[in-house]
Amino acid sequence: MRTGRTYFIADLHLTDARPVATGRFFRFLTEEVAGADALYILGDLFEAWIGDDHDEQVAHDTARRLKSLADAGTPIFFMHGNRDFMLAKHYAARSGMTLIADPTRIDLYGTTTLLMHGDTLCTEDVAYQAFRRRIRHPVMLGLLRYLPQALRRNLARQARAGSETAKADKPSTIMNVNDDAVDQALRAQQARRLIHGHTHRPARHIHSVDGHDCERFVVPDWYMRWGYVACDKQGCELKVEAF
Ligand code: MN
Repeated sequence: MRTGRTYFIADLHLTDARPVATGRFFRFLTEEVAGADALYILGDLFEAWIGDDHDEQVAHDTARRLKSLADAGTPIFFMHGNRDFMLAKHYAARSGMTLIADPTRIDLYGTTTLLMHGDTLCTEDVAYQAFRRRIRHPVMLGLLRYLPQALRRNLARQARAGSETAKADKPSTIMNVNDDAVDQALRAQQARRLIHGHTHRPARHIHSVDGHDCERFVVPDWYMRWGYVACDKQGCELKVEAF
């Protein structure tokens, strides 16, 4: 039976090291998402992803769970986050997921809705944006895919350590989205709603853009809590729960 709902999640940061989040995610899929119109994963599903040969148990289990959801008739869409941008078509196919670009604009029950991971909106973090442009360049991505797995694993570890050190020195406003960047994205895509993750600051905001009130939903991370944004014909709601 179809539920007439569409779900949005991001920042689950799944890893074998945090089985509670993984268990919660699998229950979420069977108890809430089953029968939904669609599931959108807006990046950082995994804590780290060094390529589709990533061999954590959680990667194999997640592929199986997602595939059975897709096979039962719920389309699954995946947008890259800053942790799992190396996730590619092989794993997407195994999981029954369709890869989508960041940003992607959809018609969500009649409301033009813009979907993003959210990191590109953090424009005040100039150092991160420069790093992102380099690492996500098609030539760099092509090169990374050819490196042996052990080398890719080391690079990922170094990148994470570097970002933790950098984060500690950055004021928290820099780690948030920039309001002008949000307004620009909504205006450029002529969207009335934006759903994104990345900042780990779940909330519903209103942005007035050219005289229109636009909604911005930030989906929660799954570290100490879990949750999602769910939408139907009536609108969208943000749900955040403790583990
Ligand atoms: Mn992120």
